[in-house]
Amino acid sequence: MLKLKALPKGEITPITLSVIVPLYNETEVLPSLHSRLTMVLDSLPERCEIVYVDDGSVDGSHQMAQALPASSSEHLCLSLSRNFGKEAAMSAGLSYARGQSVILLDADLQDPPELIPEMLAKWREGYDVVNMQRRRRLGESWFKRTSAAAYYRILNWLSEMPIPENVGDFRLLSRQVVDQINALPERNRYMKGLFAWPGFRQITLQFDRDPRQAGDTKWNYTKLIGLAMDGITAFSIRPLRLATWAGLTVATSAFLYGAWVVAKTLIWGESVAGYPSLMVAILALGGVQLLAMGLLGEYLGRVYIEAKARPNYLVGEVTEHPRQSIRAAQEAQQ
Ligand code: UDP
Ligand code: MG
Repeated sequence: MLKLKALPKGEITPITLSVIVPLYNETEVLPSLHSRLTMVLDSLPERCEIVYVDDGSVDGSHQMAQALPASSSEHLCLSLSRNFGKEAAMSAGLSYARGQSVILLDADLQDPPELIPEMLAKWREGYDVVNMQRRRRLGESWFKRTSAAAYYRILNWLSEMPIPENVGDFRLLSRQVVDQINALPERNRYMKGLFAWPGFRQITLQFDRDPRQAGDTKWNYTKLIGLAMDGITAFSIRPLRLATWAGLTVATSAFLYGAWVVAKTLIWGESVAGYPSLMVAILALGGVQLLAMGLLGEYLGRVYIEAKARPNYLVGEVTEHPRQSIRAAQEAQQ
């Protein structure tokens, strides 16, 4: 892994805010994201940095990020050695960010950068985590909205700690929380859960989530189901307990039914019937067993991944662009 360059001589003000932006094939939106983001950051008196994490894009997003116009913020461009997924890209950003507070922002402008000052104000009031809850999800299908709502409900019922509903990755974290998350040894990084796990002082603000500005979503339903399983297995072992309860219920009912069959045969005799009920019992039991085995496999597979202890991502290149005075940055943008 490359080491960061030393800060320019004489630069002693600490970085107040780091904005982490994961990028995967985002050339279509990157210029407008950059101009909206830098406009907001230029208006802040504090020293800020933007951390662009290129997650193995094949459309030149990394080169484009490196060549973006300078601003009053430092630009740090990381490129991962291949596509590792958004969770890994965010982890990489979190370990490179140097700010006293950190905001995670999607590149597609679904999370409006204009809300950053409001989030920072809450951090100044002493909050460690500022969750941004989606009031409305514009540009998302009915099915996606309903399945997301159902998923959050199930996840919260299963998990031992509350995971805020309808809060994506867009949020502010204090340095203390970022350090705790960076120190976690686990490889299954379901970030929405990990961000809530440290606790500390949390506040939730509401916002309207805009539709993606350009380009396509990088998620399909198979990926989303994988992410959903990661979330459940990372924060709960309750499904295993449910499997035990299901087994216990089925076995108890089978014993009771068995006793009833014996008693019935002894009292009234048996006329050898019951083929359909036999099939139902066999299929139902087989189904429950397979489901429980699959569930065990989900957990076991994750134990296997943790045991291998491979890194979550590899960083290829790191470049840093120093900040400019606000006037010079404004002139460069004109
Ligand atoms: N992203 C990433 N790696 C991936 C997929 C997505 O870094 O493998 C980034 C993507 O560039 C964007 C953010 O994650 O900045 C959210 O992706 P997207 O908008 O496609 O997700 P959605 O909003 O549809 O859930
Ligand atoms: Mg998006």
